[in-house]
Amino acid sequence: MDLYSGLPYWIVKNPLYDDYHPLSADLRTEVAIIGSGITGALVAHELCKVGIECTVFDKRTPTTGSSAASTALLQYEIDTPLCRLVGKIGETAAVRAYHSCLQSINGLEHVFMELNISPDFMRVPSIYYASDRNGLSLIREELEIRNRFRLPVIYFSKKDLSEKYHLKAPGALVNYSSAQVDPYQAATQILRHYQEKGQLDVYTHTEITQWEEEGEGYRLVTARGTTIHCRYVVVAAGFEAGRFLPAKVMKLTSTYAILSEPVEKEYIWPGHSLIWETREPYLYIRTNNRNRILVGGEDEDFRDPVKRDHLLRKKVSVLEKKIKKLFPDLPFRTDTAWCGTFSSTADGLPFIGAWPGKERMLFALGYGGNGITFSMIAAQLIRCKIQGIKDERESVFGFERLH
Ligand SMILES: Cc1cc2nc3c(=O)[nH]c(=O)nc-3n(C[C@H](O)[C@H](O)[C@H](O)COP(=O)(O)OP(=O)(O)OC[C@H]3O[C@@H](n4cnc5c(N)ncnc54)[C@H](O)[C@@H]3O)c2cc1C
Repeated sequence: MDLYSGLPYWIVKNPLYDDYHPLSADLRTEVAIIGSGITGALVAHELCKVGIECTVFDKRTPTTGSSAASTALLQYEIDTPLCRLVGKIGETAAVRAYHSCLQSINGLEHVFMELNISPDFMRVPSIYYASDRNGLSLIREELEIRNRFRLPVIYFSKKDLSEKYHLKAPGALVNYSSAQVDPYQAATQILRHYQEKGQLDVYTHTEITQWEEEGEGYRLVTARGTTIHCRYVVVAAGFEAGRFLPAKVMKLTSTYAILSEPVEKEYIWPGHSLIWETREPYLYIRTNNRNRILVGGEDEDFRDPVKRDHLLRKKVSVLEKKIKKLFPDLPFRTDTAWCGTFSSTADGLPFIGAWPGKERMLFALGYGGNGITFSMIAAQLIRCKIQGIKDERESVFGFERLH
C-alpha cells in the first residue's frame, strides 16, 4: 500500500535513518515485531527494558510508514467524545479508555526521559473548540462528564477565546495535559538506542508474507524466503496490518496536512496550544519549536492513493482558507504538504492484544486520530501479556468487544 505522498515534514527535516539490512538467513527470536514505526519501537522498548529478547522486521527503511507522515498531536481526548463513547462501550470502559490515554502521554514522556533522547517532545495545552451551536452543546455535555470522572478540563467562553487566543469560536474545552512530538525522531531514536546497546536487531526491507502456528510459537516466512521462528509475533504493521487479521476491523480513509513557513513568534498563540474542533472531519492545528504551523484535516472517505493524491492541491487550498478564516492576521504560507492513509474504528479505539484463540500473535493497532498515544498503551499491554501480568486495560482495547 502507498501510505502517503507529498513530502511529510519529518522526512525533510530529519536525516534519513539510512539502514539497509535485509534478513539473509533463517533466524530464531523470542518475540518477532513486525513494523519499525512508533508502535514497533515502543514495543521493542517495553520488551528490551525487562530483558525479553526481540527482533524488529520491516519491509521498508526504518520508520518510513505512517509514523513519518503523522502530525503527532498527543491528546488524551480521543476522536469519540467521552459522552458518546459511554453509549458505545459502557461507562466503566469508556472512562478507563480516557484515563489510559491520559496516562499514556506521561508514559511517552517517561520513555524519552528514561532513554535520554529528545525527539522534540513538548508539553502544550489543547483547545477543543465548538465549531457551531451543536458543537457548543456537545462540549457542555462533555465538560460535565469529564469533570465527573476527574479528567483535566476547563471551559473557555467565547470572550476567553477571543481575548487569550484571538480565536473566534462560541466556546471550548481546554486542558494542559497534552503534548506534541517529532514522531520520526521518537521512533528512530528508540530503535537506535537499543541497537547501539546490542539489545536489538532491526531487519529492514524484510517483508513478512506468510505465517503459521508452530508448537508453542510461530513460523514466519519473508518475501526473500528466509524463515523466522519465534514464541510470539507482535503485529505493529500499522494501517497495513489487515492481512494478518481474520476479519476487517477498521476503515481506511485519506487525510491531508500542510506546514507553513516559520512565522514571527508574536503570531503564535499562547503556549503553542494544539487546536481542534467539534465538526467532523475536524480541522486541527499545531506548531513546532521553529514557529511553523501545521494544519491537518479534510479527510476523505476512501483509501485509493491515486484518487487521494489527485486531491492534494485542492485540499491545500481548502486548508489554507480554513486557517485564514480562523486566524485572519496570520501570514500563513505553505512550505510543504502531504497526504496519507488513515484508519478509524467504529468506537474510535484501537485494537490491542490477541485475536481470540490465537494467543501468540499479538496486535498493536493504534487506529484513529490518537494513534501514537494508543501505541504506548499497546506496548505496555503487550509486555504485560508476555510477562503473564493481568492488566485491566486489556478488556477495553481487546478484540473481544467486537463480539
Ligand atoms: C497525516 C496523518 C496525521 C496523523 N496525525 C496523528 C496525530 O496528530 N496524533 C496521533 O497520535 N496519531 C496521528 N496519526 C496516526 C499515527 O501516525 C499512526 O497511528 C502511527 O504512526 C502508526 O504507527 P505504527 O508504527 O503503528 O505504523 P507505521 O508507522 O505505518 O509502521 C508500520 C510499519 O510496518 C511495516 N510493515 C507493514 N506490513 C509489513 C509486513 N508484512 N512485513 C514487514 N513490515 C511491514 C511498514 O513498512 C511500516 O514501517 C496520523 C496519521 C497520519 C497519516
